[in-house]
Amino acid sequence: MFNSQYLNDVMETVIRRNPSEPEFHQAVREVLESLEPVIEANPQYEKANLIERLVEPERTIIFRVPWIDDNGNVQVNRGFRVQFNSAIGPYKGGLRFHPSVNLGIIKFLGFEQIFKNSLTSLPIGGGKGGSDFDPKGKSDNEVMRFCQSFMTELAKYIGADTDVPAGDIGVGAREIGFLYGQYKRLRDEYTGVLTGKGLTYGGSLARKEATGYGLCYFTKEMLADAGKSFEGATVVISGSGNVAIYACEKATQMGARVVAMSDSNGYVYDKNGIDLAAVKQIKEVERKRIKEYVNTHPEAEYHEGCANIWTVKCDIALPCATQNEVNEESAKILVANGCYCVAEGANMPSTPEAIATFQSNGLLFGPAKAANAGGVATSALEMSQNSMRYSWTFEEVDEKLCSIMKNIYKNTSEAAAKYGKAGDFVAGANIAGFIKVAETMMAQGVV
Ligand code: NDP
Repeated sequence: MFNSQYLNDVMETVIRRNPSEPEFHQAVREVLESLEPVIEANPQYEKANLIERLVEPERTIIFRVPWIDDNGNVQVNRGFRVQFNSAIGPYKGGLRFHPSVNLGIIKFLGFEQIFKNSLTSLPIGGGKGGSDFDPKGKSDNEVMRFCQSFMTELAKYIGADTDVPAGDIGVGAREIGFLYGQYKRLRDEYTGVLTGKGLTYGGSLARKEATGYGLCYFTKEMLADAGKSFEGATVVISGSGNVAIYACEKATQMGARVVAMSDSNGYVYDKNGIDLAAVKQIKEVERKRIKEYVNTHPEAEYHEGCANIWTVKCDIALPCATQNEVNEESAKILVANGCYCVAEGANMPSTPEAIATFQSNGLLFGPAKAANAGGVATSALEMSQNSMRYSWTFEEVDEKLCSIMKNIYKNTSEAAAKYGKAGDFVAGANIAGFIKVAETMMAQGVV
């Protein structure tokens, strides 16, 4: 329940219009809770029914993706692209290939993307897409045939100035390559229609590292304000994909000891500090399971069940796998074990109850919208380089990323303080991201 009748009405409409989409409801509720003081201070937004417009995607595309597997059988998946908000720039947001994907998950991700993209201060709107296709266990040829079929339909709706997808869970360099190849073939144009591309065809240096590195840059700022740092800290990171690997790399460079990482089956604990080269070999090169780690590191332990990673004692926790992976019970264990900082690399990895637990116990809490915005920010830098037909060096991109993350922290923390919520970075990120989009929507009229 909100104090504002207007927000209550909007929330009710969201639930009625979007039944069976709990993740989308969760994402909307969290943003609306943060916006209460802003709506109260700015009656013009209610008058223009701005919030009801904001929670309704501009366009939702759902399509059939038929493809043929290696045994000659016809398979059918479902494809999605939700073009949520283009007020401040072309739709921008990743594609997720995972069996759990459904419309509600894509909508929650697309909705969050609006505010995250706004926070980067770059001109990008919000969108998200994907499919319930599972690349795990598929041959390269099967993945290619799927990607070509997916892009054959998606190509009708995207473009370098319209909608620029990128990677997410299950969509890495291999998938982006196949998707880009098919787009180029269909449209006969060589433009920056996707980001996360390979370096030989328009990709940006430091894009691969950007989300994980950016997460650490943001966390460093948050820690510094509290008189702390990564130096000497014990860190636990869930996941072992793109975000987790580069968060581990940067946290280690900053002097931390990362002792645990996971995949959807279980987690490894290495008290000596995770050997990241071994994780990269297993996950990036061999595409195998994290449990293989103990074959080359007998001193480490493997535990079945990924949720138990939060029982490992740590100072800083960086959830980098998936939504709602940290529940209230896990949050209480982290608190009891003395963890003082949680920053989200994944999107919405903490349940509302977990966030409440962190905040009521005085932990530093960096929400995904702010803390993992480095990936999309660097995607926007890739778009700039493609437009200029020019490439910046790794150091140039990394420096821009670092300064963007510092700026996001500053804007988030100032917005929280301005609306009487100092130290509440959830509210700060939602408010700071919202204001720019709201002002732009007001200026552009009822569209
Ligand atoms: P990857 O596919 O590279 O890695 C995902 C990791 O999370 C894998 O270790 C995977 O394990 C694990 N995982 C996935 N689903 C589940 C699940 N249901 N339960 C437990 N573990 C799971 O994806 P990314 O690293 O790119 O993305 C991770 C998170 O970061 C997502 O929430 C994504 O939306 C977010 N994000 C990503 C950005 C990017 O630039 N890539 C940008 C901003 C946010 P397994 O191999 O067993 O499936």
